Amino acid sequence: MKKILALNLKMNFDYSEAKNYISALKDQINSSDVVLFPPTIFLPYFISKDYAFGAQNVSEFDNGAHTGETSCSQLKSLGGSYALIGHSERRIGQKEDDETINLKIKKALEKKLKVILCVGETKEEHDMLKTSKVLKTEVINALKGIDQKSLENVIIAYEPIWSIGTGKIPTIKDIEDTAAFITDIASLRYNFKPRILYGGSVDEKNIAKLNEIECLSGFLIGSSSLDVNKILKIKEVVLK
Ligand code: 13P
Repeated sequence: MKKILALNLKMNFDYSEAKNYISALKDQINSSDVVLFPPTIFLPYFISKDYAFGAQNVSEFDNGAHTGETSCSQLKSLGGSYALIGHSERRIGQKEDDETINLKIKKALEKKLKVILCVGETKEEHDMLKTSKVLKTEVINALKGIDQKSLENVIIAYEPIWSIGTGKIPTIKDIEDTAAFITDIASLRYNFKPRILYGGSVDEKNIAKLNEIECLSGFLIGSSSLDVNKILKIKEVVLK
């Protein structure tokens, strides 16, 4: 199966920067295996058939009186096909708990979106050897009550929080072990073998090494996705 290159632009770019980015990207991607997650306010400018796109966050509600939120149906109406759910910056910054994340996943799947669920441990949890415990809880709670068929549309991104934006990445062995652990948890509990992405300080220099990790189905990239030249170099390695 082809790998996935997911690009999380987070809360970056103003209007003219977003326009410049889009025109630099134009005609360069041409792959539905690249998934762009632009800032929600600029989503309409990112509509394209050259790549897949989605929202960095979606509401667990259908529509209506939810100020500041974006519904899955609104995203679908633009042609968006992915929802990024449970990113650590939302878990921590917006205090999104496992229960809300589970509701968001259910809503996204009901609306026929593909979901990239993010899980990962803090530096403190990592140092206290609590990674397995944290991931087990996050995976089990996020996927609770979802039917077998819908689970096929969930991809899990392992993003150690201490690695996001820090230039520090786990060893290859640690990524392999953790991906295997996540697969075990999902298989044992839900009879589901998820595709696993890695995210955290992935760049054009370390991608060749990371791409050798066989159990990974791709990458979720933050900072490096802001630079079109870096994306193209990374894409060359991952989607060759
Ligand atoms: P960085 O690639 O900047 O470490 O961010 C990773 C991330 O949070 C992607 O969702």
